[in-house]
Amino acid sequence: MKTNKDGSTITIPVANGRPGERAAWLLGNRAVCATLPLPPKEVRRLVLLGAPGVGKGSQAELLHLWCGACHLSTGDIFRAAKGLPPGERTPALESALGCMARGELVPDETVIAMVRERLRCLRCAAGFLLDGFPRTVAQAEALERLLKADDLPLDAVLDYELDTDQIVERLAGRRVCASCKDVFNVKDKRAAAGICPHCGGQLYQREDDRPAAIRVRMETYHRNTAPLIQYYRQRGLLLTIPADGTPAEILERSVAALDAHPHPRSANPNGSASRAG
Ligand code: ADP
Ligand code: ZN
Repeated sequence: MKTNKDGSTITIPVANGRPGERAAWLLGNRAVCATLPLPPKEVRRLVLLGAPGVGKGSQAELLHLWCGACHLSTGDIFRAAKGLPPGERTPALESALGCMARGELVPDETVIAMVRERLRCLRCAAGFLLDGFPRTVAQAEALERLLKADDLPLDAVLDYELDTDQIVERLAGRRVCASCKDVFNVKDKRAAAGICPHCGGQLYQREDDRPAAIRVRMETYHRNTAPLIQYYRQRGLLLTIPADGTPAEILERSVAALDAHPHPRSANPNGSASRAG
């Protein structure tokens, strides 16, 4: 997998031996991550933007393996919460799960409170990859305040772009493994029988990947989230990444864009002035 014009390659180490555990992020105050990050070569604090189905989640996983920053998805918090016994769900969480099933956004206050409860995840030693947050200008402003208070500047915002027809096709055909959570498309012959080719688990369709919910999610994206493109462009943080092609090709573009992006902390001797590769 090539990165730069000079032919240097992206190696994908498995961060700390175990990729993507994120217990503290998924479960909130009750949990700590079993593996603490190793001191990173370079801290990356990134936001991933893009319409639903554009492949942000897959890119976040790959970028996590590439740089060790923790993949923090607000959608994953809600999906993890769905597994809680009803007695452990707060009213705000119950109503959030209803919004999610319909493809609507969860109210800003609920999402911002959830992220605030997980502030220590934003201090993760290797940085973070925020996926699905912020999704509105109010959330972006709240994030800016939280990060400023903790002196954790964002490095860049990766905006993944793909045309709407391709997105709708991907979402409607998306199936998720109930056991290992891996994601497949119905067009993939290995997944056609509804059985996970990796672990034998049952594949299912996310309730918000049904056509009615997809329409709501796309409209919501254009109305609420697309304005963030301008918001981050004005702050000099926006990197636009075409999201067609294979996940590896998209990762390659992401890494090339990050390498070409001036690093806000390069003047800081304790920061990440020295770039590897
Ligand atoms: P997608 O595949 O649409 O990008 P996610 O997995 O990020 O979806 O989120 C699934 C659902 O969770 C959203 O449709 C929304 O209902 C809710 N959600 C997740 N993050 C947020 C957020 N930052 N603000 C409001 N709602 C959110
Ligand atoms: Zn599986």
